[in-house]
Amino acid sequence: MKTLTTIAEVRHWTQAQRKAGKAVHFVPTMGYFHEGHLNLMRQAKADGGAVIVSLFVNPTQFAPHEDLAKYPRDFERDFAMAESVGVDALFMPEPQEIYPPDFQTKIEVTRLSQPLCGVSRPHHFGGVAVVVLKLFHIVEPDRAYFGEKDYQQMRLIQQMVRDLNLRVEIVPCPITREPDGLAMSSRNVYLSPEQRQAALSLNRALQWAQSQVESGERDLAQIQAGARAIIEAEPLTRLDYVEVVHADTLEPIAELHDRALLALAVYFGQTRLIDNRVLSVD
Ligand code: AMP
Repeated sequence: MKTLTTIAEVRHWTQAQRKAGKAVHFVPTMGYFHEGHLNLMRQAKADGGAVIVSLFVNPTQFAPHEDLAKYPRDFERDFAMAESVGVDALFMPEPQEIYPPDFQTKIEVTRLSQPLCGVSRPHHFGGVAVVVLKLFHIVEPDRAYFGEKDYQQMRLIQQMVRDLNLRVEIVPCPITREPDGLAMSSRNVYLSPEQRQAALSLNRALQWAQSQVESGERDLAQIQAGARAIIEAEPLTRLDYVEVVHADTLEPIAELHDRALLALAVYFGQTRLIDNRVLSVD
C-alpha cells in the first residue's frame, strides 16, 4: 500500500490507475479506524477499482470548543488495518497541504445543513462540504463511499454532488455496529465503561421505534417521544436532539407514509454520540 502526503502525489497515483484501466474508488475518513471504516473500504474493493483512503482530521469541521486537538489518532495502526483489507493508497496530508494560509472559500449546502446536527454545530457541515469537495477534486474518484452512520453528512454530499454536477457516484454504506448494538465510532474510546453501557439505550430506542412502526404506529410525534423517554431513562445521558424527519429532505414530518429518519445525538459526559435509523413501513 502506498502512502501519499501531497496533492501532486495523489494526482500522479490516480493518473497511473486510470492508465492501467482501473476505476478509482475513494473512502474519505478522519482515521482511527474501526470495522465501520473497514467495511467502507471492503465495499470499495469489492466494487473492483483501485481504492484510495484519505485520512485527514479536518480542522474546519470542528468548532473551537470541540475535540480537534484530542481527536484519537494512531497512524501505524490505521496503516496496518487499511493494508489488511487491500487498500491501494492512503492519503495523509498535513493541514497546510489542504488549507494554505490564505485559504478563504466556503461551500454551503443551505437547507440540509441546518436541522439536526446543524443546530448545535452551525459551522460543521460547511467544513465537511469544503473538505469533501476539495478531496473530490484532488482524487477525481469514480465512486466515493459514505457511511449512513453520518446520515445528514451523506445526504448533504449527495445534494452537493447533484447541485454542482460532480461526476462522482456516492455509495451509501449501512451502519456497522458492535455486537451489543452500539454504532461503531472513533469517539467510542472516550466512553467510560458506565457511559458505554448507558449508550446502548441509543440503539434500543431505534429498535423500539421500528417495532412500533411494525405494529402499525404512524404518528411520528408518539415515536419521537417514546424514543426520547428510553434514552432519558439512562441517568448518564444529556440529550442534544431526538428527531424524526423526512428521510430525504430532513424536514419535519408528522406522519409516516413510507420512510422517515429517526436521528439522535446524545452526550455521555463530554462525548457526543450520534445514531439513526430509517423507519420504514415495509
Ligand atoms: P469518520 O472517520 O468518522 O469521519 O468516518 C469516515 C467515514 O466512515 C464516514 O463516511 C462515516 O459515515 C463512516 N463511518 C463511521 N462510522 C461508521 C459506522 N459505524 N458504520 C458505517 N460507516 C461509518
